[in-house]
Amino acid sequence: MTKSKETTCFAYDEGKCKILSIAKCEGESCRFLKTKKEVQESEKRALERIKSLDKEDQKNILNLYYPKNKKILKKI
Ligand code: SF4
Repeated sequence: MTKSKETTCFAYDEGKCKILSIAKCEGESCRFLKTKKEVQESEKRALERIKSLDKEDQKNILNLYYPKNKKILKKI
């Protein structure tokens, strides 16, 4: 049996969505549907962009969006 596309979504959990306040997954018509790999690639691009900024801007963004993981830029 092949998986439906929405079951490969990073936010899919037994028919429910972990990120949207909805009762049931919207399936393939959902515009937020992304695989875990797509999420990882998107985060990597975002981190590379942050890393390209000057140190002060990097620090401000990390404080705002990654307050518990300020060493995240060292992963890429
Ligand atoms: S509603 Fe959208 S984001 Fe949520 S699990 Fe389904 S496809 Fe993914």
